[in-house]
Amino acid sequence: MRVVTVLGARPQFIKAATVSRAFKDSGIDELIVHTGQHFDRNMSNVFFEEMDIPLPHYQLEISGLSHGAMTGRMLEQVESVLLKEKPNMVMVYGDTNSTLAGSLAASKLHIPVAHVEAGLRSFEMRMPEEINRILTDRISKLLFCPTDTAVQNLKKEGFDSFDCEIIQCGDVMYDAVLHYRKLLGERSNIIETLDLGKSPFVLVTIHRAENTDDVTRLTEIVEALNAINRKTKVVLPLHPRTRGILEKNNIKLDFSTIEPVGYFDMLSLLENCEMVMTDSGGLQKEAYFFSKYCLTLREQTEWVELIEAGVNSLVAADTDKILSAFEKAKQKPVTHATQLYGDGTAAQKIAQKLGSF
Ligand code: UDP
Repeated sequence: MRVVTVLGARPQFIKAATVSRAFKDSGIDELIVHTGQHFDRNMSNVFFEEMDIPLPHYQLEISGLSHGAMTGRMLEQVESVLLKEKPNMVMVYGDTNSTLAGSLAASKLHIPVAHVEAGLRSFEMRMPEEINRILTDRISKLLFCPTDTAVQNLKKEGFDSFDCEIIQCGDVMYDAVLHYRKLLGERSNIIETLDLGKSPFVLVTIHRAENTDDVTRLTEIVEALNAINRKTKVVLPLHPRTRGILEKNNIKLDFSTIEPVGYFDMLSLLENCEMVMTDSGGLQKEAYFFSKYCLTLREQTEWVELIEAGVNSLVAADTDKILSAFEKAKQKPVTHATQLYGDGTAAQKIAQKLGSF
């Protein structure tokens, strides 16, 4: 079995690291194509280095373009890689432009596509991620779903009658946390470096277009963070796109931020923080894995199990709502008692399925 994996963004590096290890154990031959969507050191290279991901065989360097231009160039270049390498399967992860370009290039060449994180829906068609994931699901052969909700979403859309297979394998992000958490002590000293050990802090990330591309929303979030930081320290590893938009619009944070951090440092921040506030999909689940309450800076989430379990609140981008939810959340204990995201063997299940395809 020869697999070409197409990836390009931070969360995909984390998922692929885990699945690549399982591929290696199962003797599956994998070639990695890095589209270049995220390219700077803290958003890309650091993940390859610290997580032992096999180095990309193809580095396409396509970034910083509009959605159409970026996806179009990826499509063209991935197609020529696939024509040359002739894989039995193309692997894609999540919901980025790299995901859509990889799956589209493969399906037009009649190469079966395996989509990890299939079936997730926010039901908000204005989100670029929602468009990417729906289209990718529709042209995939193997749909690896992380949750029962994702399976149900596909069934409701009629996928039962399409030429594809739906597999509930659990969430590879959970596998990743179980594996890398054990190595934290020797791989991260961010708590000491930033002197965060003495008092509680809130871990925040903001990068989704729905928040960064809307100045009113971004300003409301920043006002809430400034108010929270007067009482509880806010630690914000700032995505370069968000940094650029804050600067351009002169939206001022009253505290200093840090550069995006590597995965081990992120896990260490998760382990030591009081609470998480984010618009990231991955971080919402990781908060739960570390038994931390999460305030989600969005109107909806693909990870509805977290809301049902009472460990996550949707606070949108409304200063008052964020501040009152923050006070309430401090009282709420979070236990990671139920296995909402599988049993830590998602990557093995994916490798097994591909091995027998
Ligand atoms: N992450 C990281 N460093 C950072 C910010 C995030 O390692 O500075 C990790 C985070 O722990 C999670 C993943 O990146 O595993 C989530 O990526 P992102 O928020 O970019 O994407 P999303 O999950 O929203 O697709």
